[in-house]
Amino acid sequence: MDPRPEPTPRRQLLSVVVPCFNEEEVIGETVRRLRAFCDTLVDLDVELVFVDDGSRDRTRALLRGYAEEDGRIRVVGFARNFGHQIAVTAGIDAARGDAVVLIDADLQDPPEVVHEMIAKWREGWDVVYGTRTERPGESAFKLATARAFYRVLNRLSDVPIPLDTGDFRLMSRPVVDVLRAMPERDRFVRGMVAWVGFRQTALPYR
Ligand code: UDP
Ligand code: MG
Repeated sequence: MDPRPEPTPRRQLLSVVVPCFNEEEVIGETVRRLRAFCDTLVDLDVELVFVDDGSRDRTRALLRGYAEEDGRIRVVGFARNFGHQIAVTAGIDAARGDAVVLIDADLQDPPEVVHEMIAKWREGWDVVYGTRTERPGESAFKLATARAFYRVLNRLSDVPIPLDTGDFRLMSRPVVDVLRAMPERDRFVRGMVAWVGFRQTALPYR
């Protein structure tokens, strides 16, 4: 008989990756809302991975301050602005979670929806991507151009990329590991996620 006590199962970790470029106006509110969201996750640990993409305002200083106050907050800082997709990629690389959520710093996508993403992940889905059923605050023009963008994208691409999705999504660790192993230099993250396969599902929200 093994005399050692049963190890207590490790709590799962959720990483929330937030790319940030010149977000000093909103970052305080974003951090407040994300921390409040973390507090509602009773059975998961969370890390908030902010990637400061070479901001030229106070974004990085503010983030460093928040990280000092809250051990769940980590900051990756770029030496210059590299662009959204590279910032997201660095965040995915830095993330240590069993699942990784991507969300923009302006919180156009509500963090509360992540609860439903987690539920889907626990049902066995590897990718849960948000699809907006409504885009409040966006003009008919932006809506039409976004639609046209996806129509063209899907005509050019062999891999169907779902309509009305941004980067807002949850990915399981196996998907994250495949993304990390992909050598693509010019990365379009949501296209790559669509390409890798696994079990993927949409989560519509307003
Ligand atoms: N962002 C970034 N690097 C950039 C531009 C944007 O990391 O060079 C971040 C930005 O702070 C935000 C996200 O990427 O969190 C999406 O940017 P934005 O809101 O400008 O894009 P849109 O909503 O128009 O797609
Ligand atoms: Mg935005």
